[in-house]
Amino acid sequence: MFDGLLKIAPRCDVCGADFGQADVGDGASVFVMFIAGFLAVVLYLLVEVAFRPPWWVHLIIQIPFVPLVSIALLRPIKGMLFALQYSHDAQEARLDE
Ligand SMILES: [Zn+2]
Repeated sequence: MFDGLLKIAPRCDVCGADFGQADVGDGASVFVMFIAGFLAVVLYLLVEVAFRPPWWVHLIIQIPFVPLVSIALLRPIKGMLFALQYSHDAQEARLDE
């Protein structure tokens, strides 16, 4: 269903279903930002309370942590949103009815 890391393929590899009309846009990014931000704050607080390290230790931990968690979460969440949108045949709202 993916064509590359995050791009949705034009059609299903298995059954050939057309994925052209479904577009999740930036929807997954919002959830990933909330989840990764929450996890980063929890990690910061745990490290701070447990070890009381100097400030640069937090930098060394957080700079790789936030991008890795974000990249790890983007694909499954985007896939989930796409699957929900596709299976419910969701479309943009229109006012002409
Ligand atoms: Zn299929």
